[in-house]
Amino acid sequence: MQLYTKILIGMGVGVFLGVAVGPNSHLLPASGVVLSPQATVRTAPQEDAPIQLLATNLERAQLVDSEIAENTPWSEIRFRLSPTDRLRLIQAGVQGVTDLPPDADISGWVQLDAPTVKRYAPIGQYLINATEWVGRLFLALIKMVVIPLVFFSLTVGIASLGDFRRLGRMGGRTLLLFTTTTILALSIGMGLGNLIGPGRFISEDDRDALLASYQGEASSTVNNAATSTSFVDQLVGIVPANPLASLAEGNMLQIIFFALMFGIALTLLPNERSRAVVQLMDDANEAMVMLVHIAMKLAPVGVAALLFKVVGSTGLSVLYALMIYAMVVLLGLAIHLSLVYGSVVRFGAQLPFLSFLGAMRPALLVAFGTASSSATLPVTKECVEDNINVSNEVSSFVLPLGATVNMDGTALYQGVAAMFIAQIYSIPLSFSDQLTIVTSATLASVGAAGVPGAGMVTLAMVLTAVGVPTEGIALVLGVDRLLDMFRTATNVVGDSAATVLIARLEGNSLQVLQPEEDRANKHKGFEGRLDHKPQSVQRTE
Ligand code: ASP
Repeated sequence: MQLYTKILIGMGVGVFLGVAVGPNSHLLPASGVVLSPQATVRTAPQEDAPIQLLATNLERAQLVDSEIAENTPWSEIRFRLSPTDRLRLIQAGVQGVTDLPPDADISGWVQLDAPTVKRYAPIGQYLINATEWVGRLFLALIKMVVIPLVFFSLTVGIASLGDFRRLGRMGGRTLLLFTTTTILALSIGMGLGNLIGPGRFISEDDRDALLASYQGEASSTVNNAATSTSFVDQLVGIVPANPLASLAEGNMLQIIFFALMFGIALTLLPNERSRAVVQLMDDANEAMVMLVHIAMKLAPVGVAALLFKVVGSTGLSVLYALMIYAMVVLLGLAIHLSLVYGSVVRFGAQLPFLSFLGAMRPALLVAFGTASSSATLPVTKECVEDNINVSNEVSSFVLPLGATVNMDGTALYQGVAAMFIAQIYSIPLSFSDQLTIVTSATLASVGAAGVPGAGMVTLAMVLTAVGVPTEGIALVLGVDRLLDMFRTATNVVGDSAATVLIARLEGNSLQVLQPEEDRANKHKGFEGRLDHKPQSVQRTE
């Protein structure tokens, strides 16, 4: 069975388990409640009973089933304070916390039908907690490769390019392509936002429920939004004061800059001096590629665990409420994918678009499962190089840059989200406001890191630019992770489409690897790459 088929099966299993035995499952007893920080917990089942201070800001509590009375909306909850909650409450000066034994059960009363209170199945949550490490392990394994891979392959790529004019030309074309596709993505998103007006389909009840449930999470998202630095500072910031620190911190733009300069410096040395360094880095790069293939062995189960968590944690009620909005984002992504990338690949790179997508399958599935284009980078690189025959010079330059700054899916989504939130708040957006969204979302997508949920954090910037309240983020948070998976896959297709076009312009002879060739050749593609006997490395004495 081919690797991508195994990953697809893993995805199916993850989705199925998420629906069947996740915390929102209808098959399991929903004997737990999740409280949002604004939930009111009272000392007795009455509207006028005192509010129990201890219980506010709790996340999860156990519902005492026997106490659910048929004809009252009140239920008793029982919970324990986590050590951090304890400390927080003591620091906040809440009375009585210090007297409580650490493992004491505390009880209070909540109204089950309040939007701040949601029921869940504790068994489902337990299953997610028990399996979640598998997804994290897979993610960590591929992320482990990203930084050394980018550094080694880009340095080698630039050193073998050996021609600064070619580098300048490639850089210019890449940035032009990135900017054009991002603006096109935003135009599609904004066009659909105007045409369909997803905000008009939200009822007032749904709006209040969404605001109440996601307010806490939204405010921490807004707090995380990067403080904006000036353009000049950002530009100067690309030059690392200490390249080893950039490598250690994973600052991608600084790493790219250093690798570029290092590669250029190597080309200026006499060949007999630079050859050994380049050869060493080239071999180290090949070892990183092998690590990608090792990590990919875990992809089917890793992706299953990741999807189990996402699907299991997304409540159906949120999905219903935000259905039209989600459909508009997905429709926009589909249009962008087929029209814009379809043309870039078909007419620019002269490759059949479907074969191109087929060749990119492993990367698309990993992007979808992990919602991180940075983590997917090693797989994307392997796909364009091995499955489409793009040279390392081109892929090692265009892809890391793309994974860091080119996020068309994110930009499109931010355009739709900003319009959606404005429509719900009935804030009219003039043409110039919409232009402001285009510019700020272009910058916000450049600023967003290729990690899950990054687009949501920089959305705060876009909302501020047009004067829409940033609390509105609470309205779209509930389906963010689901949409993130689709926009990340789009981002990865965008980077790869740009890569194949630049590769074509640079004279690479592109060719899609057929499944039979992949199976037959143990040194190319994704099949059978680890079917070699390990050899101990012989050193010269
Ligand atoms: N998760 C996206 C990516 O990695 C960024 C975002 O839109 O949140 O490409």
